[in-house]
Amino acid sequence: MIVTTSKPLDEVLDYISPYSNIFIVGCDGCTQPPRGLREAKILSQLLELGGKLRNKNFNFKVTTVAKQCDSYLTASALKPQIDGVEAVLSLACGIGVQTLAELFPELSVFPAQNTHFMGAEEREKGILEERCAGCGDCLLALTGGICPIARCAKGLLNGPCGGSANGKCEVDPERDCAWSLIIERLKARGKLELLEEIRPPIDYQLKGWRFTP
Ligand code: SF4
Ligand code: SF4
Repeated sequence: MIVTTSKPLDEVLDYISPYSNIFIVGCDGCTQPPRGLREAKILSQLLELGGKLRNKNFNFKVTTVAKQCDSYLTASALKPQIDGVEAVLSLACGIGVQTLAELFPELSVFPAQNTHFMGAEEREKGILEERCAGCGDCLLALTGGICPIARCAKGLLNGPCGGSANGKCEVDPERDCAWSLIIERLKARGKLELLEEIRPPIDYQLKGWRFTP
């Protein structure tokens, strides 16, 4: 189970305001509280109202998928619907957002949720790679949909440490350097200016260790 809370509406409006054709994608998977089609529709209505207050009209397309973190199923469900979409807003956890950002690297993909923590069923014997550390203050909108907290060995928030070589991490050369991936992703999107924005230290009071729905 992955526990999330909704981002403030104004923050989401700030993300999507440069765009008009927005695809809102819910997730019927393990996100708690549920963030499926019903919640995606409610969010589109709230954003429509919020947009009007800013003299901005959006065209929302709303859907949900079984599990956003399942790249194959999500690609099959969304790729036929992606024509004309300028930006994607995900109601999934940080893992789902990153799955969408990988599937649609040419689009801006934004989180509508803050992800707080993950509970694991320790039955799998395969290899799992951490993608979200549940920091409680998701910054994927600024990092091209790649999480530096979970994927950079040092959890750096403001660029690489300088030890990366050939796109690999100096701490473990078997791993990609998260910041190399972020820079390449932002370059591909023409959004390198996002690197100039200084990110303050994560406020871990937002993380929360317990959650009462
Ligand atoms: S910034 Fe990273 S750790 Fe924080 S919620 Fe987003 S994906 Fe998770
Ligand atoms: S090499 Fe890259 S991933 Fe590794 S610690 Fe430095 S910035 Fe982080």
